[in-house]
Amino acid sequence: MVQKVKIVVIGSLNMDLVVVAPRVALEGETIIGGKFTAMPGGKGANQAVAASRLGAQVHMVGCIGDDGFGRELREHLRVGNINTDYVTTVPDASSGVAMITVSERGENSIVVSPGANDTMTIAHVKQAETIIREADLVLIQLEIPLEVVEEAVAMAKKHQVTVILNPAPARQLSEVLLKQIDILTPNETEGRIIVTGQAEGDIREEAIISFLRNKGVQNVVMTLGGEGVAYSEGGSAGRLKAHTVEVVDTTGAGDSFNAGLGVYLAEGGSLEAAISFAQKVAALSVTKFGAQPSFPYRSQVDRFQD
Ligand code: ATP
Repeated sequence: MVQKVKIVVIGSLNMDLVVVAPRVALEGETIIGGKFTAMPGGKGANQAVAASRLGAQVHMVGCIGDDGFGRELREHLRVGNINTDYVTTVPDASSGVAMITVSERGENSIVVSPGANDTMTIAHVKQAETIIREADLVLIQLEIPLEVVEEAVAMAKKHQVTVILNPAPARQLSEVLLKQIDILTPNETEGRIIVTGQAEGDIREEAIISFLRNKGVQNVVMTLGGEGVAYSEGGSAGRLKAHTVEVVDTTGAGDSFNAGLGVYLAEGGSLEAAISFAQKVAALSVTKFGAQPSFPYRSQVDRFQD
């Protein structure tokens, strides 16, 4: 059997509590909804699950609360073949929860309580140094405290491990951090927030990418939803179209894309080939409902043709 690549995902774990309702409730209003589902989520856990399904050996580093959701989140990762030795149960914290209402018209409203994710500290990253040092690639997002992200990136670079930072949810990032990122994967809005601090504005894809390159990011891979990807590798720019598929639900498209990119790069693929692979992974994910339930297995990606 081919040796599995080692990926360390450092980030959030949430329980997504989803109610389908005729519409999203107004302030002060109570409405009766329909079906309720509790689904493990959080960008960190999503990317860990997606990478494991694509054939990587995955370690998750993160925090859960000392509650029933926390126990379920850990067990869910374990069943998905993800190592949870560095998932810390934090006493007196609740697990991260996302309260989601999805209307029959497809609108949604989401309130996230970060809970234990916000209690993650630099010490948790230091405890995981053994696995970070041995990793082929580290995948990080921004649903945990920024100082923890900064420590994790610095540690990975100290050990010459490739880092993908998926800057979601976006915020402005220091130049010191940006300089250490091998691959930054914003969508256009996230890119704009990193550059200007504002989600809206005239600054577009090319200007965002060149700003980030000037700040020292090695490679920028900007996802453009159904349009595909614009990227800059070293000095040269490129674009790849998304696959044409029947879209059911785009939730988690970005997470599955990042996992695909990470796994393929860790296996030694070029950036362009890794983007192509990641776009197949994400295209398959948008053909199914939900985030984690929609993530494909490696054999499905290898068979995919649009
Ligand atoms: P999300 O926050 O919803 O997970 P995102 O904003 O981080 O997503 P997107 O840019 O929406 O990420 O999507 C990531 C990738 O998923 C795209 O670059 C593309 O490859 C694929 N994708 C997204 N939407 C579609 C679509 N409608 N058809 C085909 N591929 C898609």
